[in-house]
Amino acid sequence: MKVLFGSICVLCLLLLGTPLAAQIASSLKGPDERFKADILVVVAHPDDEGAVTPYLARAIHDLHKRVAVVYGTHGGSGANNYGREHAGGLADIREMEARESCARMGIKNVWFLEGKDTASQNVLNSLANWGHGANLEKLVELIRLTRPDVIITSLPGVFIGENHGDHQAAGVLATEAFDLAGNPVVFPSELAGASAHREIYLENLQVWQVKKIYYFPDANDEKQFVGTGPAYSIKEISASQKKPYWRIALDAATTHLTQYPADIERIQKMSDAEAEKMMSDPDAAWWTEPETLIFGKSYYQSKPTDDVFANLEGEANPCLGPSAHMQRNFAETTVKLSGPWGFYQSFRELHCLSTLRVADTPEIAVMAGAPVYVPLTIAHAGSKALKLQLKVEAPKGWKVISGEGEIALPAEATSEMRVEVESPTLTASESKASGPQEIIVHALADGAPAGEIKLRVLLRSHGLPQ
Ligand SMILES: [Zn+2]
Repeated sequence: MKVLFGSICVLCLLLLGTPLAAQIASSLKGPDERFKADILVVVAHPDDEGAVTPYLARAIHDLHKRVAVVYGTHGGSGANNYGREHAGGLADIREMEARESCARMGIKNVWFLEGKDTASQNVLNSLANWGHGANLEKLVELIRLTRPDVIITSLPGVFIGENHGDHQAAGVLATEAFDLAGNPVVFPSELAGASAHREIYLENLQVWQVKKIYYFPDANDEKQFVGTGPAYSIKEISASQKKPYWRIALDAATTHLTQYPADIERIQKMSDAEAEKMMSDPDAAWWTEPETLIFGKSYYQSKPTDDVFANLEGEANPCLGPSAHMQRNFAETTVKLSGPWGFYQSFRELHCLSTLRVADTPEIAVMAGAPVYVPLTIAHAGSKALKLQLKVEAPKGWKVISGEGEIALPAEATSEMRVEVESPTLTASESKASGPQEIIVHALADGAPAGEIKLRVLLRSHGLPQ
């Protein structure tokens, strides 16, 4: 009876609303300190946290920082390399593997968004398949709950490498949430302020400005990021744990059995000396020494290579507002690369990430034999109709499938087009030996040069579709 009585009372409160005195008392309470984080890690899949666990080991064990993790997906696709479960059942397991891995690091607060795994290199596919808006709202809520000083997430950009669209989507959402969580008119129902509120609708969180955002790459060549942010040794011995940071990170990674069981079994059989030898071999080590965290931006003035926890207060960094790309009246006709590359150019401008590293020439890696798409935006001078001519220079043995030639474009501000080129199939040894090659698109508008678009393409034996 006691239990029943208790549950009826709770129900009454839900139906009638909380009495005014109780509402005022709850508004005066501070935020729930159990969920305060110093660092919020935002990644796409269970196991992606492993990219930064050597630094997190330092932050947690020796700097006494609180870390929380948000995963964008439950990791239900891909193969189960350990057991028989697939799809939803595999997602349940991946979630538990991730929670166990975080627990080994000393991370208790872990959440999962509802993004769906998307096998492609195009971030726009991932954002579409995830449900961009709903997941962004949830991430802003989690930032307002955990109130982190620092976000660490995947680099939003296109590089030769795994270049997973889901990884990039985690970085895009985290960057957007950095800019939104402090704004009281964004998702206002998550706040309540002094409203006489019914708790079932209004969350009574507070706005929160994250101070810094750092990224880690998904690119083959990590050397290009040296100097773009602070670097931390993975080999240094943790003062409190008496072992190197890579060892703590490696032990945490061995929960991900459905992903790489053979590697985990091999590692677990290694002596300390053998594991150390592996970590000293740049071709076999799981992390680069030292590990660079790529500086995105800081709310207060800060140099890229300053320590993660430096400059958490001071003079606010003025940020530029929306600029040229919002313009719809073009003085000149130009042809530019669009698709994910065009998106990231606008993204960097709008989110004040002008210093973020971009590939010198736009690049991508695809599986040999796969088609390569070169997406183009044509800005029309004065929004007039024009005759566009595209000439494609493709490497020897590659075949232009579509997009080349002359086309009459109607009167409009911008047009979108695509050149498609088929890449040759290569043997495993040929693809190993081949370096990146360039596709060049020469554009003429009404007979005058309007742009030369280059895309560097690396062919390899495997890879996500573009
Ligand atoms: Zn991943």
